[in-house]
Amino acid sequence: MDLDVRWNHGAPPFRRSTDPLIQTHWIDASTIVLRQSMAINYEAPFLYLMFGEARALLLDTGATSDPASFPLRELVDRLCNEWLAQHPHDDYELVVAHSHSHGDHIAADGQFADRPRTVLVGHAPSDVAEFFGLIDWPAGEAHFELGERRLAVLAIPGHEASSIAIWDPTTELLFTGDTVYPGRLYVHDIAAFQDSVARLLTFSKLHPVSRVMGAHIEMSNRPGRDYARSVAYHPHEAPLPMTVDQLRAVVTATRTVATRPGAHRFDDFAIFNGPCESEMARQELRARIRRLWPF
Ligand SMILES: [Zn+2]
Repeated sequence: MDLDVRWNHGAPPFRRSTDPLIQTHWIDASTIVLRQSMAINYEAPFLYLMFGEARALLLDTGATSDPASFPLRELVDRLCNEWLAQHPHDDYELVVAHSHSHGDHIAADGQFADRPRTVLVGHAPSDVAEFFGLIDWPAGEAHFELGERRLAVLAIPGHEASSIAIWDPTTELLFTGDTVYPGRLYVHDIAAFQDSVARLLTFSKLHPVSRVMGAHIEMSNRPGRDYARSVAYHPHEAPLPMTVDQLRAVVTATRTVATRPGAHRFDDFAIFNGPCESEMARQELRARIRRLWPF
């Protein structure tokens, strides 16, 4: 499994980005990480594509205000064809699901609406619960069979109501969307979030978890230092993969800030408990300064 990669990280203000629109990295022969260019959208989310013997799963469709010039469908079709050339299958399916339904994770859904043998999972918690069979949402876990690759699916509301995590037994990766990643963990519902991250940690004690893979990077490689929101240049990002120890740190940190709304910084992430208006204004100011004085 190859997780050592230098990701698309944007370009300084007043310079043109030379990043590919979507960076493609094969972790192994059947698992791909995609990262959008920051030139498309500063959120530069990570998307995941994994192949099983019966179907493939695309987790998230990215962030763009202009889906027509965002070549995700074309790329996914090419990657599916590439995999199918090595692993011939008839009537191979694609399922397009989401880590959660915020706009920066669903933007290119429309590109898959008319794709043959493709299922597009809906955005509401009830759609997600029904599709995966999470009957006690958010409690419990469901399984989703890709074909000799039986994923576990957990509902993890708190950042957003329809958030899910996916664990893949092949790579032992735990995909956590915007709930756990090296960045600003925006918490909409702290009680739900606290419960969700605790359940992720419990899950990781019961199953082998090699790394925790989120959907963004907003921390630099200096402890406690994030890139200002909306800045499309991250020259020295923290690594994307997080460890179970870092997940445990998120659980502990969440407990300590649960009764204190506002922004709280830790070495490898920050927790934004609630709307955080004054901190968001500070972020905007930092971003403006960074755009005028990039170095
Ligand atoms: Zn996001």
